[in-house]
Amino acid sequence: MIITFPHMGRVYIPAKALFDDLGVQVVVPPPVSKETLEIGTRISPESACLPLKINLGNYIQSMERGADTIVLTGSCGPCRFGYYGVVEQEILQDQGYNMDVVILDSPGKDPRILLERIRKISGNSSWPKIVRAFIHASKIVEKTDELIDVYLRKRPREENKGETNLQQNRFEKEVLKYHGSKDILSFIEECLEEAEEIPEDPYTEPLRIGLVGEIYTLIEPYVNLDVENKLGSLGVEVHRGITVDDWIKTHLSMDRGYKKKRRAMLSKGADYLDLCIGGHAQETIASTVHYSDVDMDGVIQILPFGCMPEIVAECIIPTISRERHFPAMTLTVDEMTGEAGYMTRLEAFVDLLEQKKGKKYEQS
Ligand code: SF4
Repeated sequence: MIITFPHMGRVYIPAKALFDDLGVQVVVPPPVSKETLEIGTRISPESACLPLKINLGNYIQSMERGADTIVLTGSCGPCRFGYYGVVEQEILQDQGYNMDVVILDSPGKDPRILLERIRKISGNSSWPKIVRAFIHASKIVEKTDELIDVYLRKRPREENKGETNLQQNRFEKEVLKYHGSKDILSFIEECLEEAEEIPEDPYTEPLRIGLVGEIYTLIEPYVNLDVENKLGSLGVEVHRGITVDDWIKTHLSMDRGYKKKRRAMLSKGADYLDLCIGGHAQETIASTVHYSDVDMDGVIQILPFGCMPEIVAECIIPTISRERHFPAMTLTVDEMTGEAGYMTRLEAFVDLLEQKKGKKYEQS
């Protein structure tokens, strides 16, 4: 059994660590590229969500490198995400790809099915070993997100232009050389220390922008055209409305403190959207309200074309923006998104926020 999984931003790092610890061979899909998207688009229905197309591209690229088993998380909820696992499986079968697909669905009424599947992909490891591997993988998720947050804070403040990018590129290139959660974690810690040392220009006061929207689009740099890096290079400190760590703590952990904090967070958007309509639309609205409460300079929503929950959120955001005098912009991405137009919109938005901030200081 040689396992693969979606590349999905930096999810491949804890996923690899998990299977390394379990002694199971993996093929990490190559970073998402034009070729990945072309493969996925070729075999998917035109109306399928962009993340689904990219996942399929990931699996086929991994299969070409020797993988024979795909592990993916199942899903539930009112949007198309609820059918992801099964649809991906059927498309691969229809296209004649003979891969074993293991869907890790929520336990539902019969947790035995989930436990059997976990056992299967763990190479029949003992339960204590499986539990330890999952705990270590979740620690890697947490630390990776912490590291990314440091890069986001440093990029607009760095004294030597490009230093943060150099460090981040090195991290992403070298992390795959390490085997097992212990070594991967210590490499992340080392990168964290190094990132904290990046010298800052003490006179810089960057704009602060919150990124909200559909989770896959937010965490996968290829899909969002590396928006975090682009905004950072425009002198913006980026705050992320949702991260992989949030997703893990919401869906897989029993951390009561976090769940309480999350409920409080979601309640911030209750005046505008008070129920789950699928995806992360509720989080998008709550985070937009939260960013305006904490006096950020603006918010950018990013969604894949045709994403139902985020289209609803997109319709609500202008009301929040108007009522709270809070600048907001929406960017929709798909297979055809051109980098030049995207960059122009980001630059125009940042310009506008700079002017607004300048005026605020003139008046005070
Ligand atoms: S959240 Fe949007 S992109 Fe994701 S599955 Fe649902 S509709 Fe598709």
